[in-house]
Amino acid sequence: MKPREQRTENREQRNAKQALTIVHLYPKEMNIYGDTGNRLALQRRAAWRGVAIQVKLVGVGDSIPGETDIIIGGGGQDAGQSTIQDDLLTKAEQLHTMAQNGVVMLMICGMYQLFGRAFTTSEGTLIKGIGVLPLETVGGETRMIGNTVYDTPFGELVGYENHSGLTMLDDTATALAKVVQGDGNNGQDGTEGCRVNNVFGTYSHGPLLVKNPQFADELLRLALERKYGHAELALLDDTIEQAAHATAKSRPR
Ligand code: GLN
Repeated sequence: MKPREQRTENREQRNAKQALTIVHLYPKEMNIYGDTGNRLALQRRAAWRGVAIQVKLVGVGDSIPGETDIIIGGGGQDAGQSTIQDDLLTKAEQLHTMAQNGVVMLMICGMYQLFGRAFTTSEGTLIKGIGVLPLETVGGETRMIGNTVYDTPFGELVGYENHSGLTMLDDTATALAKVVQGDGNNGQDGTEGCRVNNVFGTYSHGPLLVKNPQFADELLRLALERKYGHAELALLDDTIEQAAHATAKSRPR
């Protein structure tokens, strides 16, 4: 098999004029269990197809550029969620508009909870969310920890969860996945994550996109189609990524 760089050369030329801007929300406060790897996976998988990526790190007090194509956010302790709460609420209107306009977003665990309407911690503290996703979360007594396996329309996803929050989707909500192994949203109803338009929320750390290359490509495809009306993503040699997927699936933690 030809090396990845050679096989993608022609595609690189065709995609040469394509570029995406990725915003990483709160990379300092909300980034545990390697969630930054999601940004790196998108960057590298786009670059291998000749799509230029510009990354903007958006923290408390920073603004989200209007021309954003993909927004990612990671997990965090309850304290981290409290720290960013006020700033996130100031960005709520813009994020709602972007979500309606099909901007691709991937929110993990702590940020997933805050893309819902609210997270009430196990101590009873209310942390307000922005309500892009139709769900609410309440802190439980036990932590749900371990490697997870989910069945999704994009194939099997493996991840790692560590949360006490129990998330309940509204009746009208669309879950991202069905739980095969792990607890997912609440350990009870077999759902995991949520999707609205191109906004995806999930409890899967991992980092998710590194171990699930087909899902990373789905996000790139959605972003390119939205921006350019078409997306051509050459197949890559994902032997290493698939090995990481298989290893995560075979271990409970
Ligand atoms: N603090 C939240 C919880 O425990 C989120 C944790 C996380 O992001 N891993 O439910």
